[in-house]
Amino acid sequence: MKLPADLQQHDPADTIRPLRPPWAIAEWAFAARCDGCQACVRACREGVLKRGADGLVEADFRFGGCDFCGACLAACDRGALRRELRSTTRAFRFAIAIGTDCLARAGEPCRTCQDFCDSFAIRFDTGGQGPVVLDNCSGCGACVGPCPVGSIKLYRPTSPGSA
Ligand code: SF4
Ligand code: SF4
Ligand code: SF4
Repeated sequence: MKLPADLQQHDPADTIRPLRPPWAIAEWAFAARCDGCQACVRACREGVLKRGADGLVEADFRFGGCDFCGACLAACDRGALRRELRSTTRAFRFAIAIGTDCLARAGEPCRTCQDFCDSFAIRFDTGGQGPVVLDNCSGCGACVGPCPVGSIKLYRPTSPGSA
């Protein structure tokens, strides 16, 4: 996924809330198809999915990252998650922004997000500017929960080529 050139340009209003499960259909259709049965929640071994405030399911990376196992897809018999897209389409459509409260940006030796990134998609060789998320980010969300200050936010991609 190609990320915005300046990750600080995002408006907080662009933060994705709620983030639906992987390979979810469009939001307007999701609300019609998902009946809140929680089958996908029960299927997820990583603890990524939960019941949202609206009664429907959403992804929440605070307690785990997605390993793209597809168990949630298999569990959904309402057509709210598109199994046929698993091999061709990104599971989630978001860009990552690192907040100004990032400890590394303040000179602290934190590298936690990098430690949790199996894709080696976080780089720190930027002259003390803190972490930079690279294009090979898989969108697994594994970096989100471990950040000690909650500095990793998910935003809508800002251009047609950004997801
Ligand atoms: S793909 Fe697997 S890990 Fe990811 S949300 Fe679905 S069940 Fe959980
Ligand atoms: S969301 Fe991207 S940057 Fe974060 S751990 Fe996953 S691959 Fe790495
Ligand atoms: S884990 Fe959070 S505070 Fe630490 S370097 Fe990464 S974004 Fe910054």
